[in-house]
Amino acid sequence: MTDLPDLSSYDAVLFDLDGVLTPTAEVHMHAWQTMFQELFAAWGITPPYTEHDYFLHLDGKKRYDGVASLLRSRDVEVPWGEPDDDPSADTVCGIGNRKNEVFARVLRSEGIAPYPGSLALVDQLREKGVPVAVVSSSKNAEEVLAAAGIRDRFAVVMDGVVAERENLASKPAPDVFLGGARMLGADPARSAAVEDALSGAASARAAGFALVVGVDRGVGADALRAAGAHVVVDDLAAFVD
Ligand SMILES: [Mg+2]
Repeated sequence: MTDLPDLSSYDAVLFDLDGVLTPTAEVHMHAWQTMFQELFAAWGITPPYTEHDYFLHLDGKKRYDGVASLLRSRDVEVPWGEPDDDPSADTVCGIGNRKNEVFARVLRSEGIAPYPGSLALVDQLREKGVPVAVVSSSKNAEEVLAAAGIRDRFAVVMDGVVAERENLASKPAPDVFLGGARMLGADPARSAAVEDALSGAASARAAGFALVVGVDRGVGADALRAAGAHVVVDDLAAFVD
């Protein structure tokens, strides 16, 4: 790991949130699993939901796109509905909102601590005057950042709420990383992006970032490189002096 680039040499560094700054992925995985196991049982859907479904259909995507993708894999089709559908509604949006209720309950009851190595890197970049931003597909980004106590470190948060308002396409499309760079006033060709999801690494690469850092939290270093990461680490502490 002696050949890692110096992240402070880039104009800006844009961080994914879930799985990069905070171990939210575990909370999300647990919430998705609980929700889909109940739904599959109630509707008699097979084969059963597994952890593989999470990485294949849900990880890094906008909530409703993930629901639609997973249901499609089981040949189940329901109406799309509307984002303000009640969580009891049997629509893509209603089912997505149902999962969100489970997630919010877990987050509130258990809280969340940022990864120490990620926090150390963010603080080091800030001390060196490098602008940092959050680029997340999640509509819970503000809530997660607040629960982790790190919201005030980021001038820009490009999240699922902003993306929906501005009609930006979901990762792996480049839109959200381009939008985050624009909000920060940074040129992607002189900036770095940090991602743990395949769709996210592909998004940052498609957006033309000079450096895409993959953080391997389980999806695999080779898969992250294939998706677009230039370098892959297990922990962002590797970039801290
Ligand atoms: Mg992520």
